[in-house]
Amino acid sequence: MFNVAIDGPAGAGKSTIAKMVAKKLGFTYVDTGSMYRAMALACIRAGLTSDEEEKVCEVCAGLDVSLEYDENGAQQVILNGENVNAYIRTEEVGNMASVSSAVREVRAQLLELQRELARTKDVVMDGRDIGTNILPNADVKVYLTASVETRANRRYLELKEKG
Ligand code: C5P
Repeated sequence: MFNVAIDGPAGAGKSTIAKMVAKKLGFTYVDTGSMYRAMALACIRAGLTSDEEEKVCEVCAGLDVSLEYDENGAQQVILNGENVNAYIRTEEVGNMASVSSAVREVRAQLLELQRELARTKDVVMDGRDIGTNILPNADVKVYLTASVETRANRRYLELKEKG
């Protein structure tokens, strides 16, 4: 299998580039942030607030997160059998993801899933720890960044588009 790892900070354009590269190469695009977001959504639905880090582990332990691809090749996140793609891009979920992704057990759970995908498919995987931790032997590793102004502007336009 051929693995491409793309890491970098928020707003650098990782997912935009990763999607384009995956399409061009005919590889599977794996957005690892969406997996953390799905876990965060489950925490919110369980009534957790972002100061209840100790309860995150309990909620996440029983969760099943997987990825599917629609007819256009767009990644869909499945949480316990439900397609939650439409619910994970909110600020609230993003904020909870910052908290839940810091929990060691949550990272360990997703590490397994991400490595399994890379073992069985040619992937372009984007995230923050892919080249360093998840796929240290990736065939190609990219660290993508941009100036603070550019990153802030990208995020601003993204939020504006969402109203
Ligand atoms: O990239 P995105 O904003 O969708 O990621 C959501 C959150 O998930 C990030 O703010 C970060 O806290 C976490 N994350 C992570 N490791 C990754 C991908 C995302 O901790 N590989």
